[in-house]
Amino acid sequence: MKITELEIKGYERVASARDEASGLHALIAVHDTTLGPAVGGIRMWNYASEKEALTDVLRLAEGMTFKSAVAATGLGGGKAVILGDARKSKTPALLAAMGRFINAFDGRYYGAEDVGTSTADIEQVRTETRWVCGLPRHLGGSGDPSPFTARGVFLGIEAAVAERFGSSSLKGRTVAIQGLGNVGMSVAEQLHAAGAKLMVADIHEAHVRRAIEAFGARFVEPARIHDVPADVFAPCALGGVLNDETIARLQCPVIAGAANNQLLEPRHGQMLLEKGTVYAPDFVINAGGIVNIGVEFEPTGYSESRAHEKVDRIGASVTAVLALARERHIPSSEAAVMLARQRLAKR
Ligand code: NAD
Repeated sequence: MKITELEIKGYERVASARDEASGLHALIAVHDTTLGPAVGGIRMWNYASEKEALTDVLRLAEGMTFKSAVAATGLGGGKAVILGDARKSKTPALLAAMGRFINAFDGRYYGAEDVGTSTADIEQVRTETRWVCGLPRHLGGSGDPSPFTARGVFLGIEAAVAERFGSSSLKGRTVAIQGLGNVGMSVAEQLHAAGAKLMVADIHEAHVRRAIEAFGARFVEPARIHDVPADVFAPCALGGVLNDETIARLQCPVIAGAANNQLLEPRHGQMLLEKGTVYAPDFVINAGGIVNIGVEFEPTGYSESRAHEKVDRIGASVTAVLALARERHIPSSEAAVMLARQRLAKR
């Protein structure tokens, strides 16, 4: 395997690996380990070039630093990408080679599942390295992150509602949920239990049916979920949902949901500020999964009750970020990065 170091300003270490025998072509970026070892998923994607993969891995690694810093996971930020088609080129040999590449980082980077990789793939990676995390419980890991993410999102919705309406109570509030998957359905359940009225959209009919039957939700066509008047819009499906077109259409004073990379571009944070919308930044409100993984690194090992205790602080994180944004008259997305940088500077 040939490992090439790449000098990137602002990053602790970035390297590219090529392994002829297995066909592995991958990049690992360690952005910042001030607060702990860098943890971030191993993404497998059919990038057009190494340059495109590098742009992605750098952006994602930095994002993990900020996410972990705000959520106080005790972890740093990093990411890995494997160039290739996850459906065609993912072989046990390639994943094992990825494990050997991780070894070159000597514990400063830990890999986990991500887009294009599953926990079964991470088990393969683990045949060659001990620096992986987020495995299923029966393998000693912290298990499925979704329930923890969903709990954090629910608490973040309460915090954002309190910022806008002066009370965190969800009784009688309407919430429009986009996406009823692992996270969205659990958020819907908690909102229903708290007395909220739900409007839901999903391209999966069975998911919608379940929400109608279990929570008395009202169905909205997926293409129309940005148009319905509601107190809260909760994006729990796709990235890039907050853009020129949807921001103009949205009639919800609060946006708070699980999806990653909700703002299509950073300037959309400014657009939301100008519209007077309270936006709970995605990487603050959806940090429950990484908080759960962070507990694996505690000296006494993983504990579910400890994970719940830490996830319960996500509401306070959202409150702090929204307050900072209000005081400084800046987009909440910028306030979140500012808070992360403050935490990193304090160490
Ligand atoms: P999932 O795949 O289980 O659920 C996504 C749901 O969205 C599915 O039900 C899908 O049918 C639906 N959907 C897809 N396109 C849609 C559309 N155009 N309109 C309406 N619904 C649509 O994923 P998940 O694990 O629930 O994650 C949801 C989001 O939260 C993703 O953006 C994910 O990156 C993010 N997230 C998840 C976690 C986690 O712990 N699972 C952690 C952080 C962030």
